[in-house]
Amino acid sequence: MELKKFDFTQVEFVPSPSTQKARISVVGLGYVGAVSTACLSSLGHEVVGVDLDPQKIATVGRGESPIHEQDLGDTLRAGVVNGLISTTDNLSEAVQDTDVTFISVGTPTAADGGCDYSYIKAAARCMGLGLRNKAGFHVFAMRCSIPPGTTLNVMAPIIEKVSGKVAGRDFGICFNPEFLREGVAIADFHNPPKTVIGATDLRSADIMKAIYAPVDTTPIVTTIEAAEMVKYVDNVWHATKVCFANEIGRLCKPLDIDSHEVMDIFVQDTKLNLSPYYLRPGFAYGGSCLPKEVRAVAHMAKAAGVDLPMIANLDRSNAAQIKQAITMARATGAKKIGVLGLAFKPGTDDLRESPILDVMAALKADGISVKGHDLAITAETPIHAQLAYVRHGNPGLTELAQDLPDMLCGDLELLTDEAEVLIVCHANDTYRDAIKASGKPVIDLVRLFPESDPKAVCVNGIGW
Ligand code: NAD
Repeated sequence: MELKKFDFTQVEFVPSPSTQKARISVVGLGYVGAVSTACLSSLGHEVVGVDLDPQKIATVGRGESPIHEQDLGDTLRAGVVNGLISTTDNLSEAVQDTDVTFISVGTPTAADGGCDYSYIKAAARCMGLGLRNKAGFHVFAMRCSIPPGTTLNVMAPIIEKVSGKVAGRDFGICFNPEFLREGVAIADFHNPPKTVIGATDLRSADIMKAIYAPVDTTPIVTTIEAAEMVKYVDNVWHATKVCFANEIGRLCKPLDIDSHEVMDIFVQDTKLNLSPYYLRPGFAYGGSCLPKEVRAVAHMAKAAGVDLPMIANLDRSNAAQIKQAITMARATGAKKIGVLGLAFKPGTDDLRESPILDVMAALKADGISVKGHDLAITAETPIHAQLAYVRHGNPGLTELAQDLPDMLCGDLELLTDEAEVLIVCHANDTYRDAIKASGKPVIDLVRLFPESDPKAVCVNGIGW
């Protein structure tokens, strides 16, 4: 099923007053659903809670919390007393009686380690039945944690088939990930870290925005797949942070250093440490500091008998990124490749542990003619000391270090003319213009050509 993707950045959303108090059904009254039911009612919505479990239906229906969660009981009770919350086991009817359905059924791990879709599929069939017998527009907002593609490829087709209606036209499909922390979920609902709405049609996004307006006036509207992915990425990031902090703790203890003192200082750096910096997919890390110091910490840990799997494997992850660039270049079949940007980062002529050198060496070993250009490196740049470092740091680059001066091409136009394929490692206007003027295919390691850029050239991004 192909649903149209909209460029939401181009569209101004005007919440419709008529959708401010949509009637909402919530399927699955577990941790997520019970909190949604309570909190949506606290915003003045009529909410129908749906579950298969008679005990949960009765408990929530009485205004009691089915789980231990701060303020949930009080909020549910208020909703029931105010006549805003009711419960049922009849999902089809609940769909007919409401405008929007939030889906928060379980998505346990399947026997093969993947996601068990059986609860989603069962719910989708009932929702399709309800929709078939409903006249108006209805929005289905998926809240489960699911692999990207599930909302559109698993849930939507079932609803379409059973209802006989078309997603994006007769009904809306959204993915609205749930970011609330158990234990403080009610407080988080009213002060969310962010609100993300993945949608395929503007009307549904508008309706969802109106629902969240009292707690978040600036929700992030995106594609369904990006919204699905972000939920996983958030949790993987949180897990990464926990493991990182714990590895630092395990390393500091035998060294008799207070890990909390260290991390208290670490978190005060909001420019480089706790910031978007270093958090954009791109090329491998390099230079004279990161590789060397990652190795040093791994070595320190080994000497102290401490197992730090995450830190010890950073160089493996970095090598995988370099390998990816090599694979992409090889896949072009080009016999002449031009590399734009050689230093480990722009604005420097520092070639020490520059990861593109590994790519150039591998391609050269394949018999490919490789030429390189760098705005900060010319024939006059004294790079010999650096090349000695390159040889010392990575004996595998000895031959490249010897040949590199001859591989440099100071004439950018000549280089782009002669190359069949370009690899761009530094993002700047000079390289963007040169690549566009050449019309040559480019392997983009730095997102020099974002998706919104009209593609004058054939671009293959390393992680996009
Ligand atoms: P849960 O197991 O506590 O609750 C799921 C509920 O869905 C159960 O009460 C079950 O009886 C009901 N259910 C299953 N099939 C149904 C059907 N066809 N019709 C009606 N009810 C049905 O699950 P949860 O912890 O609330 O998580 C729900 C989803 O949200 C999962 O995908 C989970 O990964 C995701 N999630 C959970 C959290 C969390 O903090 N627990 C946070 C974010 C996202």
